[in-house]
Amino acid sequence: MTQTSTYDVVILGCGPAGIQAAIHASRKKTRVLMLGRMNKSSLFWAHVENFLGMFKTSGEEMLRTGLSQAQSFGAEILEEDALGITPGKRCFTIETESGQTVCARALVIATGTTRNKLGVPGEKELLGRGVSYCVECDGGFFKGEDVAIVGGQSAAAGGALTLLHLAKSVHLVCASLDVSPALQAKLRQSGAILHEGVTVTAIQGEKQVVGLTLSDGATLPVTGVFIEQGAKGVLELASSLGLTLDESMKYLQTDKSQAASVPGVFAAGDICGPPLQMAKAVGEGCVAGTMAANYAKNLKLAQEGPDEE
Ligand SMILES: Cc1cc2nc3c(=O)[nH]c(=O)nc-3n(C[C@H](O)[C@H](O)[C@H](O)COP(=O)(O)OP(=O)(O)OC[C@H]3O[C@@H](n4cnc5c(N)ncnc54)[C@H](O)[C@@H]3O)c2cc1C
Repeated sequence: MTQTSTYDVVILGCGPAGIQAAIHASRKKTRVLMLGRMNKSSLFWAHVENFLGMFKTSGEEMLRTGLSQAQSFGAEILEEDALGITPGKRCFTIETESGQTVCARALVIATGTTRNKLGVPGEKELLGRGVSYCVECDGGFFKGEDVAIVGGQSAAAGGALTLLHLAKSVHLVCASLDVSPALQAKLRQSGAILHEGVTVTAIQGEKQVVGLTLSDGATLPVTGVFIEQGAKGVLELASSLGLTLDESMKYLQTDKSQAASVPGVFAAGDICGPPLQMAKAVGEGCVAGTMAANYAKNLKLAQEGPDEE
């Protein structure tokens, strides 16, 4: 790739949404570049058992295979983040980590969401080995076990209620419980064990989670911990491009063709909101990649006229 290459479609993100978008866009004979890192995808550490046609597989394997598939259709990859995007008359100019600039006729934003972390010892080391950020995805792995859920908002309270159907015991740890009175009442009657006014200071375990250390010094013996502290928003990206957010002000607003509020910008996957699941990311990636390729082809035709045979 040269410093000022022009692409029909540039895809920000190398997770399932971005890769699927690249597969569909490149099969439409457009020049496609993917930015981002596969190992930064939420899926990279996941064990998946709820995707069509796959009983059990690793997220890493799915991403590796998908990436090779996209490359086999001609998509290129640059393992760098986009640092800035400037809209222009002919294209969007994207500046990458190393200072390269690329020009895109159409953009697909598939940068996912970063799960809010606790930032305590053991969290990173034990991810996928008892630490999870997704009850819906991983709850089934903890059938009959003692688990904890960390967080004081509706995502955590709802997660605790879901886990009660699966786990032997469910502890909810939060500094304060900030949910509606109705949900609070349901939770208090549910059998979940509430630890309010405390935080988690460490996750214990070497190969697998064995417990939590709480701020009051107590130890909670659990084999699973679900961190449900909401997902970080997309405000920076949205504001630089003037994109509209959805009602929650956390996700990008798109229409049925995955078009965002600025012409030529499409979005797919977790950045478009819940359910934060691979199947949804892949479906939206398919639509976004197809629509972005069509948009880029039409723009090129208008700018340059038909290709000479
Ligand atoms: C532990 C765990 C287990 C899970 N298990 C399951 C499961 O079993 N089943 C299921 O369906 N879902 C599961 N999920 C959810 C699933 O992983 C996500 O829904 C899915 O990965 C979302 O895909 P995405 O492409 O939108 O974003 P991601 O997969 O998060 O990919 C985001 C991409 O954007 C890139 N990026 C970020 N910022 C920039 C930037 N500025 N410039 C360029 N690139 C950028 C990153 O490098 C990354 O490649 C799980 C999630 C977690 C965390």
